[in-house]
Amino acid sequence: MEKKVLPGHTNNWRTPLLFVAFIAGLLFLHSCKNEKDKASEPMEKAIVPKVEEDSAMVFLEKQLSFGVRVPGTAGHLATRDWIINTLKRYGADVEVQEFKASFLTKKDVPSFNIIARMNPDEDRRIALFAHWDTRLIAEKDPDEAKKSQPIPGAVDGASGVAGLLEIARLLQSNPVKIGVDLVFFDAEDQGNDTNNQSWCLGSQYWSKSVAENEKKPEFGILLDLIGAKGATYSKEEISARMAGTIQDKIWQLASVMNKGNMFVNAQIGQIMDDHFYVNTIAGIPTVDIIETKPSGYFAEYHHTHNDNADAIDKNNLASVIQVVTAVVYKSSDKSF
Ligand SMILES: [Zn+2]
Repeated sequence: MEKKVLPGHTNNWRTPLLFVAFIAGLLFLHSCKNEKDKASEPMEKAIVPKVEEDSAMVFLEKQLSFGVRVPGTAGHLATRDWIINTLKRYGADVEVQEFKASFLTKKDVPSFNIIARMNPDEDRRIALFAHWDTRLIAEKDPDEAKKSQPIPGAVDGASGVAGLLEIARLLQSNPVKIGVDLVFFDAEDQGNDTNNQSWCLGSQYWSKSVAENEKKPEFGILLDLIGAKGATYSKEEISARMAGTIQDKIWQLASVMNKGNMFVNAQIGQIMDDHFYVNTIAGIPTVDIIETKPSGYFAEYHHTHNDNADAIDKNNLASVIQVVTAVVYKSSDKSF
């Protein structure tokens, strides 16, 4: 809002009177401002930059080039360093949170959450989440001999990371007036079906580290299993319960952006994913954008060796990232 400059006065006797009126006016304006929501102040409308399909694909394929990203492998460490360096190149403040993870047959494996802050000094913040590790085993693979082999994790791992990195790239060239925390969880995908808590080890660790009195992001979005061929995204139940208003707004925005065929207006059951701990422990209302079939079950590639580059549709991938990018830029100008 532009401030009005009062014209100068030459009639001296009128000055005290005008001064009193001026102060009274200021007090009146001040009290009005307190009563009104600050969000009603007019703001410059942010232009939502365009997600580049090929850029997102480069981020995805680069991760596959490191091999599997199971904690404790060389590919895992190489990917960690590449994610950190890429984020720094896009101007983020990067913090690495190390912890030990025990999973399946492995004990106390060094694991790393990567936390990148864009605009670290902004008070108003939102958060985007993904997991960057890939699964040690392929228990759903139809080939018995391959069940014990680690999966490539193109959809399950690389896609969400590609989304966050593409948004970091866009944020550097198209700055926003909001803080954006990009959090890459490790050791999400090493669980077993007999123990719910064996999944999402990185997000459990991170969520416990978010202090009670810390200024938290207003809300979060988790990207997991995005960009597969023919993928659709239904409204997951934990997200609906913990962050229903935000979930509804994302799906409405997607519909306005002509992506209602992907963001379908259907409900599915609970999925144990990183957002569960971000919601329940960190206390940040967070929505999971995750592909399932309309039945709520995962697609055929899930936890098999078919979760490779061939499973990806770069247009589907870019479309999801574009919707999330729009949420970020609209949050910046308070129009989300
Ligand atoms: Zn998985």
